[in-house]
Amino acid sequence: MKDPGLLVVVSGPSGAGKGTICDALRKRFPNINYSISMTTRSPRPGEQDGINYFFSDNAHFEELLAQDAFLEHAKVYDHYYGTPKDYVFRMLNEGKHVMLEIDIQGAMQVKQKYPQGVFIYIVPPSMDVLARRLRDRKTDTEEVIAGRLSKASDELQWIEQYDYLIVNDDLDSSIDEAAAILTAEEMKTSRNTCKIAAIRDLYKK
Ligand code: 5GP
Repeated sequence: MKDPGLLVVVSGPSGAGKGTICDALRKRFPNINYSISMTTRSPRPGEQDGINYFFSDNAHFEELLAQDAFLEHAKVYDHYYGTPKDYVFRMLNEGKHVMLEIDIQGAMQVKQKYPQGVFIYIVPPSMDVLARRLRDRKTDTEEVIAGRLSKASDELQWIEQYDYLIVNDDLDSSIDEAAAILTAEEMKTSRNTCKIAAIRDLYKK
């Protein structure tokens, strides 16, 4: 028997640096597996099916939805996004960690279904910094950027629903903070029933 891995849920506005922090965590924690989401949006240049997302049409997504195949799903910017359920639970049961980089609607669904997950919210240090990061990416029009900024501001009301907040001012510090969260969570006695039994066995008089 193995203790289940951690289900780590990361949210935050686009431009917060979630992707970079999650990639760095994966390098530090080889036990982390990324869940690949399904989406109905079109692939962006360079994105590959089965690597960045499973790209799907609406009909197929809705069919899977009806079969209860998703741990959570949401409509973000008019497109469906969802986390396939089987993969997540298979990994957790094997003692592996799973990281989900998902929006707030999805994160709250996961919290309902799996409250023992680790919920982390990442924000940039200010609206000005967020605006600059979004402009520097050169992927969005000014109109889209204005929409993202407004959404980021509205979403701050959800922060307390998360277990941890990282203010991503300095990337290296934020990665260290995220790693510290995962290390502490890994070591919680409540998550280590099997390990505790094994230790007791070793110490048997
Ligand atoms: P993008 O289209 O830029 O890749 O992602 C847009 C938003 O959808 C991001 O906030 C991202 O975190 C979120 N997202 C990606 N995959 C999922 C998912 O499986 N479920 C939910 N709820 N949100 C997702």
